[in-house]
Amino acid sequence: MGPRPTLSFEFYPPKLQEGIPSVFKSIDKLKEFSPDFVSVTYGAGGSTQSLSEQISIRIKEQTDLVVMAHLTCVSQTKTDVHNVLTRLADAGIQNIIALRGDPPLGQNEFIANKDGFSHANELIDHIRTNFEFGIAAACYPEGHSESTNLELDLEYTKRKVDAGAQFLVTQLFFDNAYFINFLNRARQIGINVPILAGVLPILRTEQIRRFTAFCGATIPDSLGQQLNNLSHDAAAVRELGIEQSTNQVMDLMEKGIDGIHFYALNRSYSISRILSNIGWVKSANISR
Ligand SMILES: Cc1cc2nc3c(=O)[nH]c(=O)nc-3n(C[C@H](O)[C@H](O)[C@H](O)COP(=O)(O)OP(=O)(O)OC[C@H]3O[C@@H](n4cnc5c(N)ncnc54)[C@H](O)[C@@H]3O)c2cc1C
Repeated sequence: MGPRPTLSFEFYPPKLQEGIPSVFKSIDKLKEFSPDFVSVTYGAGGSTQSLSEQISIRIKEQTDLVVMAHLTCVSQTKTDVHNVLTRLADAGIQNIIALRGDPPLGQNEFIANKDGFSHANELIDHIRTNFEFGIAAACYPEGHSESTNLELDLEYTKRKVDAGAQFLVTQLFFDNAYFINFLNRARQIGINVPILAGVLPILRTEQIRRFTAFCGATIPDSLGQQLNNLSHDAAAVRELGIEQSTNQVMDLMEKGIDGIHFYALNRSYSISRILSNIGWVKSANISR
């Protein structure tokens, strides 16, 4: 096995202010595993965008965790985006996961604000030119859902790296073959930055079916069959998720990958179990 991969956890802003304490409860539990960073997603609009900023800033103020704030271009002018970045920088946030974002609910297609950014590479370019943030971007082992051409999708991913993304985080996937294939193709076209594997421990059957239908990730047949068989047994589905992610992460670690980024969904139980299953040393202080 190679050096320890990086470990990171992704949280999302609740719909209402009242939901914030439960996010922090989960962060408190997971921080025992000494993640390299935690990230907070950026909502599609309105209050969740401001809660996203608030949570990133509160994590920064209340813990010693490295925070990466996600930021999208959805429904925002360049000036709006610039203002968010300025507020985050003023609050001491040092890292951004720069995204285009999905079309808002009810829209099938992403339509850029006429004074906004059309693609993540433009946002990354803006950040690199105007701020000092560390920058990451998204990538898609099975191809982005809007893309019909895997090669072109990869070229666009390279554009994000060339614009200044210092590492990439993948969309969720269950079959490691997609990740390894993507990694090899990325290296072949000169994408040399670390690529962190996005891992989502399944919590509920209908939720994972919804997520995968939306983002285009494949549920392998055998896993799909197991989910069908267990669909009414919530505890058993969660156990299956723990087992599946444990095996997935162990295999990825054996392959010496750069990092594991858990989609935590504001929960800590499954991830704690997975990390203890693989013998993750809680306060490892390993230099890489
Ligand atoms: C790790 C991760 C974190 C995420 N966090 C969030 C979040 O916090 N909030 C949220 O709303 N969504 C989030 N998403 C979802 C993401 O916003 C969507 O997948 C979105 O549809 C694409 O964002 P992107 O940054 O990859 O876009 P882009 O890189 O702009 O790609 C979007 C599409 O356009 C194509 N493309 C890219 N660049 C160009 C170009 N220059 N010219 C023409 N075509 C191009 C690509 O092939 C792709 O099909 C996340 C996804 C991942 C993997």
